[in-house]
Amino acid sequence: MEQQYDVVVIGGGAAGLSGALTLSRARRSVLVVDSGAPRNAPAGHVHNYLGREGTPPAELAAIGRAEVTGYGAEVEPGEAVAARPVPDGFVVDLADGRSVQARRLLVTTGLVDELPTVRGLREQWGRGVLHCPYCHGWEVRDQPIGVLSTGPFGAHQALMWRQWSADVTLFLHTGPEPSDDEWEQLAARGIAVVTGEVVAVESAGEQLSGVRLASGQVVPRAAVVVAPRFTARSAVLESLGVAAVDQEMAGHVVGSAVPADPSGATAVPGVWVAGNVTDLRAQVISSAAAGLNAGAMINADLITEDTRRAVAARAVFSARTERELCDMVLGDRRHGI
Ligand SMILES: Cc1cc2nc3c(=O)[nH]c(=O)nc-3n(C[C@H](O)[C@H](O)[C@H](O)COP(=O)(O)OP(=O)(O)OC[C@H]3O[C@@H](n4cnc5c(N)ncnc54)[C@H](O)[C@@H]3O)c2cc1C
Repeated sequence: MEQQYDVVVIGGGAAGLSGALTLSRARRSVLVVDSGAPRNAPAGHVHNYLGREGTPPAELAAIGRAEVTGYGAEVEPGEAVAARPVPDGFVVDLADGRSVQARRLLVTTGLVDELPTVRGLREQWGRGVLHCPYCHGWEVRDQPIGVLSTGPFGAHQALMWRQWSADVTLFLHTGPEPSDDEWEQLAARGIAVVTGEVVAVESAGEQLSGVRLASGQVVPRAAVVVAPRFTARSAVLESLGVAAVDQEMAGHVVGSAVPADPSGATAVPGVWVAGNVTDLRAQVISSAAAGLNAGAMINADLITEDTRRAVAARAVFSARTERELCDMVLGDRRHGI
């Protein structure tokens, strides 16, 4: 037997839990299915989250789950593998063979950071290997930072990270030669440029210690900045016919995301998205805000449907019968005559 909910939320990160909080406080029955691998899991702390600055990601998620279940929502560990429309909503198939049914879906499965293939990068991801200055810049301020160029934004990234440290080196690696303007900007900001391929990121114990070039030279660094490809985790949405599309910056593909309107509604009626799966720039706090927004829109959509059903379930409407009924029940309190 499939269990039936008003809303199944697929993905229990910031976006999904926030949507579930909004919906459960709106007295909707909600199930959150979560495979437990939020994007920022490798990081020690969540930054730029007002009111919870510096909280470990797992702790913030646990607080969110407690808040959501406190209003009656269910949170289940598990993975949704596919979904399909049925007359009253959708059936979601889980990896363990169970299925659940919902009138509406909120998909908040996030994205995958695809890192350049350089030895040692993956091991240091989220600690010594970074991508987002607003997440980690303060923590590596004034330290020797290397920027690994793999595309047209290498110089831009180096100039950005220069805000946090005066010791920034741009490794051209597989990225393009900077333009004349960029050479001048890099020089003006005191950013060193190293040509040649990078073959490894070196660590000493837990700490990232340097960047090894194909020549054998090791340039000491405390942190390395990369530009991952941001790929939407869209398998469940694809099974519903909602495809992720390439996202470009200055004509260069930087990742993929699932298109939606500003409320999070996708092209498939009844299916909403929020967070990184649809917005690859979203941070934790903006993913949570998008989840709230989508949750409110889903509730509004359900209210419309509930009202339509209630009207349809009534006997043929007669204004006279309605007036007589109101007079009988409410008398002067309603009509005053
Ligand atoms: C290393 C690192 C550090 C970061 N640090 C910060 C920071 O300090 N501050 C900040 O604001 N942002 C930070 N970010 C960005 C932040 O991680 C994202 O903005 C945020 O996680 C997006 O939230 P989300 O809910 O959209 O996705 P996620 O948090 O990634 O949550 C998605 C959830 O869906 C689950 N899921 C996926 N597929 C399925 C499925 N098929 N079935 C069930 N569950 C599924 C996943 O397991 C996961 O729990 C960082 C990112 C990285 C990579």
